Amino acid sequence: MAARTGTEYISGLRADGREVWLGAERVRDVTAHPAFAGSLRGMAGFFDWQHRHAEDCITADPGLDQPVGIAHVIPRGPEDLARRHRGLETLARYSAGMLGRTPDYVSLTFAGFAGQPSVWSASGNARGAGNLAAFQRHVAEKDLALTHTIIHPVVDGGAAPYEGVNREVALRKVGETAGGIVVRGARILATLGPFADELAVYPGQPIPKDAADVALAFSIPLATPGLRIICRDHYGLDADPFDKPFSSRFDEQDAFVVFDDVEVPRHRVFLDGDPATYNAVMARGWVGNVMQQTSIRAMVKLEFAYELCCRMADATGQGRRPEVMQMLGEIWSYAELTRAAVRAAEADAHEFGDGVWFCDEAPFRALRPTLPGWMPRVNEIIKRIGSHNLLATPSRSGLDAPELRPWLDRYLPGAGDTGASERSRLFRTAWDFAGSALGARAELYERYYLASAARTYTLAHVAARKDREWDQVPAFWEHLDASGRT
Ligand SMILES: Cc1cc2nc3c(=O)[nH]c(=O)nc-3n(C[C@H](O)[C@H](O)[C@H](O)COP(=O)(O)OP(=O)(O)OC[C@H]3O[C@@H](n4cnc5c(N)ncnc54)[C@H](O)[C@@H]3O)c2cc1C
Repeated sequence: MAARTGTEYISGLRADGREVWLGAERVRDVTAHPAFAGSLRGMAGFFDWQHRHAEDCITADPGLDQPVGIAHVIPRGPEDLARRHRGLETLARYSAGMLGRTPDYVSLTFAGFAGQPSVWSASGNARGAGNLAAFQRHVAEKDLALTHTIIHPVVDGGAAPYEGVNREVALRKVGETAGGIVVRGARILATLGPFADELAVYPGQPIPKDAADVALAFSIPLATPGLRIICRDHYGLDADPFDKPFSSRFDEQDAFVVFDDVEVPRHRVFLDGDPATYNAVMARGWVGNVMQQTSIRAMVKLEFAYELCCRMADATGQGRRPEVMQMLGEIWSYAELTRAAVRAAEADAHEFGDGVWFCDEAPFRALRPTLPGWMPRVNEIIKRIGSHNLLATPSRSGLDAPELRPWLDRYLPGAGDTGASERSRLFRTAWDFAGSALGARAELYERYYLASAARTYTLAHVAARKDREWDQVPAFWEHLDASGRT
């Protein structure tokens, strides 16, 4: 079977020579470093989860003779999208949607890219498009975990993106070798960077027509010489999941990546100096493909948050207070609107060329800028409903201490029949979701991982103007005029 287990995933990362930095320490083997133990257990658990739910998450693939993870399949029709929906929803439930960069995200991105050879080969890039298709098959067959880094760092926001110091830090091609190209510069960020098998670089925001040296797309193993993976502080703790339900398993570790004259083998280069294709890739189908995954994950997370808040309200006996009911209804509305957007996008899915089938993009274009507002608001509601209860939460060891337990049972039970243990677990889950270091990072992720709300509202408006004629206003005036003056 091509779909890997957690053990297989971990052994693929073991001491492979990748250059990972955590603070001032060069981590020689990510699988052996104590700071990463809980997070890697969480990632390995994700691979096992796909086997536990194989009926949803693993499927036959027309191009391979072994079953693969659902995200690797190139969607060719509505049944493929429906099947993929079931798998993605099941995968998102593994972390209640808190893991943003589970490997299905980038696998599905590449399944979409590989399904659109005409986009990638438009300007005579047949070789790059062929490399990409072969790479996607390789990823599916080996069930590799990919991260991506698509944003150039901007050192000076006052200067143009590809001028002066900003040009110097941008990832660009600086040479060629007999076997490939040489790249130098940085990209920001690469979530899952130290825990992934491959780092994919592909177009993010549009580039100027003359910026051929930054018009690149490729993928390389994380262990490629010259690639530096510089981690942010790790917020994961190898703690009891009762105490830290998310931090104990789901810190997906963001990193800044520096390419210090990295050689990319030719067969891994998908775009080389082609700004026209670079700017076209994200414009045809990327939203309709990728946002099926991101929106289903958001939906699972919002539904989890709604239930969490309902349970907190019940556990404190506040469930009938009008302002609490209002906030609960607000979260439910966000969750249901997200589900409705996914349903609408899937219902109006269509062919995007090359026989590939993606969701309709309009509902996702509307959802994309609203989620960065909804997610922080959900966290605010969690804090408002939870209040001080979020911190009056004995640990599992405290609950297990015989001399302490009677006091906890007496003074820290919940309303109704909620015992002290269940009450504590509930509020610990809520705090780790919204208030811990990992919770704060997750909020930042939701704000920016698909670009800022400002940028994506702008994109939504530009696309809406192109989608169809907007002539309701003059039509309205016309029928008024036709009705005559009084
Ligand atoms: C936790 C986390 C994980 C991430 N992981 C990854 C990853 O794995 N791979 C990857 O490639 N990237 C990743 N990113 C980076 C992410 O892609 C970028 O942060 C995102 O695209 C925003 O990029 P930007 O700086 O261009 O933002 P912009 O969209 O330019 O926004 C930056 C600021 O400018 C403001 N702004 C932008 N446009 C306008 C406008 N028209 N009017 C007014 N204000 C405006 C925004 O409000 C915002 O405050 C991650 C980011 C975070 C926070």
